[in-house]
Amino acid sequence: MIRSPKKMFIPGPTEVHPDVLTAMTHYQIGHRTQEMRDLVKRVKPGLRTLFGTRGDVFLSTSSATCVMEGALTNLVKTKLLALECGAWSQKWADTAQPNGIALERQIVPWGKAHDPDDVRKALKTGAYDTVTLVWCETSTGVLNPLADIAKVVREFDDVMLCVDAVSALAAVPIDVDALGIDVCLAGTQKAMAMPPGLGVFSCSERALKRAASKPQRGYYMDFLQFKKNGDNDETPSTPTTAHIFALEAALGRIHGETMEKRAERHRRMAKLTQDWAREHLAIFSDPAHLSPSVTCIANAGKIDVDAFAKQLDARGFILGDGYGKLKNTTFRIGHFGEHTVDDVTRLLAAMTEAL
Ligand SMILES: *Cc1c(COP(=O)(O)O)cnc(C)c1O
Repeated sequence: MIRSPKKMFIPGPTEVHPDVLTAMTHYQIGHRTQEMRDLVKRVKPGLRTLFGTRGDVFLSTSSATCVMEGALTNLVKTKLLALECGAWSQKWADTAQPNGIALERQIVPWGKAHDPDDVRKALKTGAYDTVTLVWCETSTGVLNPLADIAKVVREFDDVMLCVDAVSALAAVPIDVDALGIDVCLAGTQKAMAMPPGLGVFSCSERALKRAASKPQRGYYMDFLQFKKNGDNDETPSTPTTAHIFALEAALGRIHGETMEKRAERHRRMAKLTQDWAREHLAIFSDPAHLSPSVTCIANAGKIDVDAFAKQLDARGFILGDGYGKLKNTTFRIGHFGEHTVDDVTRLLAAMTEAL
């Protein structure tokens, strides 16, 4: 079935356009063939534009978590400064220890954003060679001040900046080169509006140099292998070809709409949702740092989130529940990807009815 019977408003996976799904039914091609290299060659420019980089972009047959872990195994030599403000940034930090990577967590309360001055203070100790930042923390609906934090990190020589843009890429414009981001990664099942299973990432020259200076980078996610194969429009191992066909279709939709209009659409969907939340319940997160792609709504002691979600389900809408420790006190709406302002308006009307 190509069209879903219900509108999925969980913050990923999300609705996928029929054209993107249909692209996945392409006949099989060998991954070391010219046909495959042509496909990879076709998706690269659109991906570069999406990331805002003239540098390398790579395709990883994995979910985003694998690329998050790979960024650490390739880049951290001395110690990682892990910025933690919710479940996803916590998970990123959690990938360090099993790889024997030393880390310090700079933790802010869930719902808050990171403060660039605190990042500067930590980096001034000289203890860290890599920083991880989740741009849009999907568990709390916070969009961290990426530009300000990137500026701070770039004050320090040879400190790598790794950014998880999973739930923001294709919803909020980004300029990886201008910000000096070393690794920027995303999964495809969030604002890119594709099925889960493909990771995409950009990688700076500085990052590749750092990786080359590390004797152990892991095997599957060795960035130097991505570079070597990528230069030939190939991937280190057999990729999920179906997803790359889907990526071509998805990038066509994204750039067809234009990133500018897409960002505006996301801002409008977010504003409607935020206004609804303020009127009926409450917004969980810091009002100064609300994400255009995900809103985390606090039940404000007024509703039973489970019962509310069931009411919405009966009306044809699937909400995201609160994540981790926020499970019963919040719920989330992923207003990104293929969703429209009209979809959100209908959802909010149904939510008002369900109240
Ligand atoms: C969904 C998500 C991830 C993890 O993605 P997987 O594809 O499940 O590995 C990582 N970071 C953020 C911010 C996310 O929203």
